[in-house]
Amino acid sequence: MSMHVSTPQRPRIDLYSDTITLPTAAMRTFMAEAPIGDEQKGEDPSVNELTAMAAELLGKEAAVFLPSGTMCNEIALAVHSRPGDEILADATAHIINYEVGGPAALSGINVRALEGERGVFTAEQFRAAIRTASRYAPATTGVVIEQTSNAGGGTVWPLERIEEITSIARERGMWTHMDGARLLNASVASGIPARTYADHFDSVFIDLSKGLGAPVGGILAGTKEFIDSAWRLKQRWGGAMRQAGVIASAGVYALRHHVDRLAEDHANARLLATELAKIEGLEIHPEHVETNIVLFDVSATGLTAAEFAERTIKDHGIRVSVFGPTTVRVVTHLNVTTEQIPEAVEAIAKVTTSGRAAA
Ligand SMILES: *Cc1c(COP(=O)(O)O)cnc(C)c1O
Repeated sequence: MSMHVSTPQRPRIDLYSDTITLPTAAMRTFMAEAPIGDEQKGEDPSVNELTAMAAELLGKEAAVFLPSGTMCNEIALAVHSRPGDEILADATAHIINYEVGGPAALSGINVRALEGERGVFTAEQFRAAIRTASRYAPATTGVVIEQTSNAGGGTVWPLERIEEITSIARERGMWTHMDGARLLNASVASGIPARTYADHFDSVFIDLSKGLGAPVGGILAGTKEFIDSAWRLKQRWGGAMRQAGVIASAGVYALRHHVDRLAEDHANARLLATELAKIEGLEIHPEHVETNIVLFDVSATGLTAAEFAERTIKDHGIRVSVFGPTTVRVVTHLNVTTEQIPEAVEAIAKVTTSGRAAA
């Protein structure tokens, strides 16, 4: 390991993730001018405005601003559950794969993975996984649905499926949480209001630092009682801030100006997928691209996804992400333009050809 960490060269086109989006000049101006105060005391006007906007958008009584989406999920799970509980989620879920075992470490709960299709499981799978009450089995107390499914490839959970699953959950006395990191992508893609999806859940979070383009933060929403409990954990876990309006104002700006434009990211992702499908040697399903995430398989190039990604960045300045041994993920967002798509496609085509030539 080198002692010196050099700043990596900024990619020409960065398709790594929608987390890399940078605040626009207008957003920065808005942030600089935002009124601020002590948010722990409820005295930060920008935080208050943001949480009110989010509660309204999601049709919930209250909301809390948190430093990250991960903290939104982990606090929601901790408020809803008791140690020893079991909850259900898709095998691809962020809470299972990317939160460092948080559900076990912080809440003492077991997340049972359902094998859905592109991140979406069926009502039958869900019903079958709910355990019968017994002296021996853990109690199945909750369910998490990820809208859109990130590792599923940006899949939009159909509203009817959500209705079926959450109504079974309610019948069985289970709580429901939506990991809505990209709920607004789903809403823009389907034309269904965010609150119509959120209506079916006890709690829901949206991420501000993905496609919405704010630098930091997530918002968790639910009943007033739920948010009061969430606030206690926010304080305990060190997530309560002071003049947080400096960053929360970026969220206010994003909710005003960056929601409808997500449609551009979706159009760019579709264009990218359609063009990539023409490249011999890539396995890709353009019909699966519903929002801003595109997955493709590079097995036929003889390269691993890691080798593929290294060539796109080193040889062409295009950053993609490694999503499996031979699966590459590309994501469109605020800082990727339609004009850049053909250039990215050409680079990916060249890397594909170079791999196949060697193989
Ligand atoms: C990114 C993401 C999160 C976590 O959000 P952070 O703000 O990065 O902590 C949670 N769930 C899903 C589906 C995500 O994509």
